[in-house]
Amino acid sequence: MSSVAAQRADRLRDLSEVEFDNTFVRELPADPVRNSIPRRVAKASFTHVHPTAVSAPKLLAWSEALAAELGLSRPSPEALEALAGNRVFAGMQPYAARYGGHQFGVWAGQLGDGRAITLGEMIALDGSRQELQLKGAGLTPYSRSADGRAVLRSSLREFLCSEAMHSLGVPTTRALSLVATGEQVIRDMFYDGNPEPEPGAVVCRVAPSFLRFGNFQIHAATEETEELKLLVDYILRTHYPGRTPKEWFHEVCRRTGALIADWMRLGFVHGVMNTDNMSALGLTIDYGPYGWLEGYDPSWTPNTTDADGRRYCYGNQPQIGLWNLARFAESLLPLLPKEELEAGLEVYGTTYSATFRRALAAKLGLAELDDVLVNELFELMAAVETDFTLFFRGLAQVSEANLAGPLLPAFYAEPDAAHRTRLEAWLRAWLAKVSGPAEERAKRMNAVNPKYVPRNYLAQLAIDAMAQGDASVLERLMKVLARPYDEQPGQDDLAERRPEWARSKPGCSALSCSS
Ligand code: AMP
Ligand code: MG
Repeated sequence: MSSVAAQRADRLRDLSEVEFDNTFVRELPADPVRNSIPRRVAKASFTHVHPTAVSAPKLLAWSEALAAELGLSRPSPEALEALAGNRVFAGMQPYAARYGGHQFGVWAGQLGDGRAITLGEMIALDGSRQELQLKGAGLTPYSRSADGRAVLRSSLREFLCSEAMHSLGVPTTRALSLVATGEQVIRDMFYDGNPEPEPGAVVCRVAPSFLRFGNFQIHAATEETEELKLLVDYILRTHYPGRTPKEWFHEVCRRTGALIADWMRLGFVHGVMNTDNMSALGLTIDYGPYGWLEGYDPSWTPNTTDADGRRYCYGNQPQIGLWNLARFAESLLPLLPKEELEAGLEVYGTTYSATFRRALAAKLGLAELDDVLVNELFELMAAVETDFTLFFRGLAQVSEANLAGPLLPAFYAEPDAAHRTRLEAWLRAWLAKVSGPAEERAKRMNAVNPKYVPRNYLAQLAIDAMAQGDASVLERLMKVLARPYDEQPGQDDLAERRPEWARSKPGCSALSCSS
């Protein structure tokens, strides 16, 4: 798509010149009340709201890749105002969506866009419909007791990882811009009773739709069957044309299975897989305290808020996907027979298993997965702290003549003689299974085992620099992460295992939900 976009560079226009076509607000029931006072809303899928202006907007980062797909040029001063929430162009109809959700396994009632405000829907150069949504744009009726704002650190993390995920080949919401507000936001980052002012920011997120399981759940939970039906009709018409409700639910299950298989193959941990953070389009959505497996450990979670229960740890993600889909299915019971919903959950399971197995085989350069080999590998990786990304990347370089050598950069602790012997035995067994010329195999493996992932400590270095007014660290990271599977001379320092200083530094490994 980007090469097509490049050819159409002459068609790039400023955000101020874009025409909007807002199906969501046109076709779904609106809250008749138009103020942004936090409250319960009934019988509506959204509320018309207005972003709250900020004092000194400054563009910190811009995704050239996404802008090219949307046909947008770098923002004019007027466009920047819109991206900060200070201006609403003709044709935009800003709204906050109403949704609910199960948070950490418990129904939480009405949540909704508490700080996200969609500006409108535009048509990208490839003809696809794309919503532009500001995150951190001020109070809405769904803000509950919070402030409607976002801090720079979490906004930069969302901006960086959205675009990196896309380049890794994983379905995701995108991020167009990162704008500093010039205002401070008060956050208790460690939840230890010491709130501090931090710089605020607004991210412009982009996706065909930000609908979540929770948008459907809230109608079901409040027995709004008519509104539920309207919402299902809407998503079918707009985002799943030609599908029956049953086919649609099965497709959501299929996409969710494939999505979580992608997360697992890459070592991505979402961190807060509540049902309000699960996309009805099968996209990765709501980047909060996410992380990337460094030392392989199925019980690892980057989210300190979840450190006790570890509900959303790496190894639990596949089963949480199923649990979330089951709650989604329950909300559709007024519209679909139970058997058809249950059959959808089966689709999730079979899709996840088949996709993950295929991905693992590809990571290992095998035509078919060998369970004994894989089980022993994961035992090995857990026995001595081994970097997930570096191990798989290094594997392509392993040969009879150089067995463990290419894998040494992956170890956080020096493996002892016994571990090395066991690893070498595994490597010999693996070499006996692979076939074909080594060079071709390495190429195939490198195409699925990324060299670069947005490790938390790298994001934190970009945040620290940005807080000092230096955007270059983020810019470099964005550029390298746009080609995560390629060797990039001179950039190897971004593909190293997490340095020891970062192990327990806040933001560099684990994070709280505070954002
Ligand atoms: P999250 O866990 O970030 O997905 O957020 C859960 C809910 O809290 C959603 O309804 C968010 O809109 C809301 N929320 C989180 N942070 C804020 C904030 N600073 N202001 C208003 N609402 C928020
Ligand atoms: Mg959320």
